[in-house]
Amino acid sequence: MTLPGPIAPPARLLMGPGPISAYPSVLQSMSNALVGQYDPFMTNAMVETQQLYRGVWGTANDATLLVDGTSRAGIEAAMISLVRPGDRVLVPVFGRFGHLLAEIAERALAEVHTIEVPWGQVVPVSAVEEAIVRVKPHLVALVQGDTSTTMLQPLEEVGALCAKHGALFYSDATASLGGNAFEADAWGLDAATAGLQKCLGGPSGSAPITLSERAVDVIRSRKRVEAGIREAGDASADDFVRSNYFDLGQILDYWGPRRLNHHTEATSMLYAARECARLLLAEGREAVIARHRTAGDAMLAGVQGLGLTVFGDVAHKMTNVVAVEIPEGVPGDAARSAMLEDFGIEIGTSFGPLHGKVWRIGTMGYNARKDAVLTTLSALESVLHRFGASTPRGGGVEAAADVFRAAATASSSPVSP
Ligand SMILES: *Cc1c(COP(=O)(O)O)cnc(C)c1O
Repeated sequence: MTLPGPIAPPARLLMGPGPISAYPSVLQSMSNALVGQYDPFMTNAMVETQQLYRGVWGTANDATLLVDGTSRAGIEAAMISLVRPGDRVLVPVFGRFGHLLAEIAERALAEVHTIEVPWGQVVPVSAVEEAIVRVKPHLVALVQGDTSTTMLQPLEEVGALCAKHGALFYSDATASLGGNAFEADAWGLDAATAGLQKCLGGPSGSAPITLSERAVDVIRSRKRVEAGIREAGDASADDFVRSNYFDLGQILDYWGPRRLNHHTEATSMLYAARECARLLLAEGREAVIARHRTAGDAMLAGVQGLGLTVFGDVAHKMTNVVAVEIPEGVPGDAARSAMLEDFGIEIGTSFGPLHGKVWRIGTMGYNARKDAVLTTLSALESVLHRFGASTPRGGGVEAAADVFRAAATASSSPVSP
């Protein structure tokens, strides 16, 4: 075997549903020197990261930290630590990631109840309430933004319903956090998890999580494991979290003042996660959401300007991703390959019932930018044309540029009295 050279990835503009191109300063942060896990610099960086993510999540929760691993690590840690075998879990499903929550709850040996709506819609809050009253769940697990369908589930009222009926409220906000409003405290979340590779503009591999006091109490009511030794007594196996790596009790002890060793915090990912949050708060939470909204509206107008049909209930779309129907006669995978090979631009395919029917185009984090949007639309027009679709010439770029112009005018015009 010839020895490969150092890794040298090609230049890509990642305009799919995630992962996306990271902010340059996030990549730079990861190339910093490593320090030991109990170096005061490291523990201080952990404390700073917790404080930054309180700002990102909109929470005062002390238990705001990172789970090492991709977004799914956060989901699994939350579920397996909050749910005991036999607990009832309610999962309203409106896309692929709702099915994932149900599947993980099943592996945690929960009694899982789902309600479903067709892909392209969100779950009416009345249906969530009806199911809570009927099922009396210990936990309601609800995705905020499901990238498989692009829909953004309204969460504002669900927390109060859960509190009224004694259920914990958990949300997977991986796809939406940063680009859409999220208010962990105001909306009554007990647990929420995310990843970096969507609107936060980092690589995958770290899962921010925040837990309410109520959630921490539930976790603390499980039997403890410390330094690999199980709490004594005649506890049954179900009293222990059925995972060592995802045992939030131990992870909280590591991030908390006792700093009890559990895993070794992934140092370079901590640097990245810290920088993602720092950038977001430096630009301003509202400003980042507004930038995502403008870029998303521009991409939406652009694909419509190319004569493409948008999938799903656009009124409930996330700001940061759009699903477009692949026009009749255009080979979806070949067109995506042409985007990648000829233009270095990645757009997304789809799963399940949408497979082969829609492309998903994201405008997230660093790529929620005018030049990224216009370049993508220009390339898409060229590729569609090559595969025989008749698209209005320049129609995508012009429609998108209009949206950016209008947004710039609105933000620079004086506020009316
Ligand atoms: C993208 C996404 C994930 C990704 O999980 P990973 O483990 O980071 O691949 C999880 N949940 C939702 C809702 C997503 O959109």
